[in-house]
Amino acid sequence: MSRYPVARRLAAAQQALADEGVGGLILFPGPNMRYLSGFDEEPMERHLLLVLTPDEAEFLVPQLYETQVRDASPIRPVHVWADGDDPAEAVAAVLGDRSLDGETVLLDDRMWTMFARDVRSALPAASFGLASTVLDALRIRKDDHELAALRRAATLSDEASRAVRALGADAVGMTERGVVDVIERTVAETDADGVSFEPIVAAGPNGAKPHYRHGTRTIEAGEPVVLDFGAAVDGYPGDQTRTIVFDGSPPDTFLAAHEAVSAALEAGIEAVEPGVEAGAVDRAARSVVENHGFGEAFIHRTGHGVGLDLHEPPYIVAGNETVLGPGMVFSVEPGIYLEGEFGVRLEDLVVVTDSGVERLNTSPRGWRPA
Ligand code: ZN
Ligand code: ZN
Repeated sequence: MSRYPVARRLAAAQQALADEGVGGLILFPGPNMRYLSGFDEEPMERHLLLVLTPDEAEFLVPQLYETQVRDASPIRPVHVWADGDDPAEAVAAVLGDRSLDGETVLLDDRMWTMFARDVRSALPAASFGLASTVLDALRIRKDDHELAALRRAATLSDEASRAVRALGADAVGMTERGVVDVIERTVAETDADGVSFEPIVAAGPNGAKPHYRHGTRTIEAGEPVVLDFGAAVDGYPGDQTRTIVFDGSPPDTFLAAHEAVSAALEAGIEAVEPGVEAGAVDRAARSVVENHGFGEAFIHRTGHGVGLDLHEPPYIVAGNETVLGPGMVFSVEPGIYLEGEFGVRLEDLVVVTDSGVERLNTSPRGWRPA
């Protein structure tokens, strides 16, 4: 059975539905379903839905998933349809029993259109909205279970970061893919689920593409390498970035850029406290990069919330008026990208506390490996 506090999360979601006058919430496999039920599965072609009303919660699942769903989640009833049945009829039967027609019904933001179509034809008089309008406010503040998982994920991510750093000059001559192997092996030896996303190991000019992953480029002496990766624990991701020159002398511009990004990271984290708007954290980090003369090269927002989704609210971006509050977890990750030359990014995760900020990452941030 799930270790997630499902009963508490369900009660909060049902209360929110009642408060908003929403008749029902229909979820599809993904982070929302995992958050509310404990059941985790990739999106798939078979109809697998979680239906929530202010008073009830129930699953509709393909027969071959029944045991898995019952084992993973305390939610009952679990309605089953078999291969060979018409799944659209099964959807119509479950939704018809709930008298949801004519009500406001929220659909998982990422439900595939083929399933949304079947729900809509079962409820022709309902009005539809997005699940995020109710769930974002719940998911944005992490409960104790989530905070414990995120802390552990950050610790294991830092361990992998130290293992990469320990390669020292030996990393010169390795390929980006070879460094990814070191990261994945280090994480595999821990109690983590695995890496939280396909690691970024971006050497030299590849580092100037913020979401480049990795390839066969060989790391050269004097070349900055952007290393962005994490370990996941119980579905909750670590996400941290360091930029390292494993041996030799980097260009002078790199030294200036790394200094600017280091100062921006500290200024951004310094700005975090309850009551502050998310946009103010972006401004604090960005103004440092601008003052160092690299403003044009900081081509993305300063950070993103982290939870069952690697990227989720609050987004630390200019103009975001979301007021930061205790339990929110997000990245602060300023970067400078000089096309054809190199990139520099530093990233830590932080938690907003009652009185300020808790930093989750403790691994070294300097550009020399040792
Ligand atoms: Zn990252
Ligand atoms: Zn990130």
